Amino acid sequence: MKVLFAAPDTLWSHWSQAIARACPEAELTRSGDPASFDAIIYAPGGEIEDLSPYRNARLVQSLWAGVERIVINQTLTQPLARMVDPGLSEGMAEFCTGWAMRAHLGMDRYAQDGIWRNGDTPPLARDRRITVLGMGVLGSAVTQMLAGIGFDVAGYSPSGRGPDGIPILSGNALPQALARAEILISLLPDTDGTRNLMNAENLALLPERAWIINPGRGTLIDDQALIAALDSGHIAHAVLDVFRTEPLPSDHPFWSHPGITVTPHIAAETRPETAATLVAQNLRRVMTGQPALHLVDRQKGY
Ligand code: NAP
Repeated sequence: MKVLFAAPDTLWSHWSQAIARACPEAELTRSGDPASFDAIIYAPGGEIEDLSPYRNARLVQSLWAGVERIVINQTLTQPLARMVDPGLSEGMAEFCTGWAMRAHLGMDRYAQDGIWRNGDTPPLARDRRITVLGMGVLGSAVTQMLAGIGFDVAGYSPSGRGPDGIPILSGNALPQALARAEILISLLPDTDGTRNLMNAENLALLPERAWIINPGRGTLIDDQALIAALDSGHIAHAVLDVFRTEPLPSDHPFWSHPGITVTPHIAAETRPETAATLVAQNLRRVMTGQPALHLVDRQKGY
């Protein structure tokens, strides 16, 4: 089986070794006669963006979970599968839980300023309401970790999809999902339906002094509306891992805003050691006439 690696050169060394271990029968190369390839492994930023000559490829396997850049590629006619990786899910659950704990325990109050603040009883997780927007692979993993700690956590997905044992709000219940969110975690893909979902109107539905943690996509939040909500004191703090422009420009107001923590798109990494298993599985599936796992619905965009 001949497989094209259509991804930035910086990824080649690590990924080619991991894929060679997981799928030794795949002949993975970075160039060749387009018509000779059975499948394409893809990440944005590589040299190949015109996929039309790869007419015999039965699969385009994305190395990333977010597929907003490839899904709009007009030359893509092959089935597109996105990345689902246990390492990615674990990393995202740990990232969101860590920052939720900072919000929940009010860790920022305990600066080294000489003030003995022992007047308040620390809260318990069971008294803290968290809403996770998006009950896909990552949102579900985050929700389960938070529920395991004892948080009063609920999920929201348009379809009502979500893990067993977790209260799920669906359809037109987004306002209720937001109204309960002392901590809001957004794990939505970048689509026509999610862009600017957290606009001024929806930000106003969050409880006073809510926290927002956004490792989904930067387009989900209206930047100016967020700054206004922080400045007014309605939102206490936002932890932002993803941005409309990445890297976040050095003059962007998010960098200096005291109510914003910027993390540089590091919430969860795809780890070749674990992710190569899915790549191998999908390559074998398409070579034996089975549909790949985790196919993207191009109409929905995720
Ligand atoms: P997924 O499995 O495709 O799940 C997406 C979820 O979003 C689904 O529950 C879906 O609802 C929901 N959704 C879609 N459109 C919506 C809308 N308009 N309003 C509300 N909910 C909507 O995706 P995933 O694997 O969990 O990944 C989620 C996103 O995380 C990725 O798309 C990517 O952008 C981001 N990500 C970030 C990092 C990082 O390091 N920061 C790493 C990996 C991924 P239904 O269940 O009803 O379909």
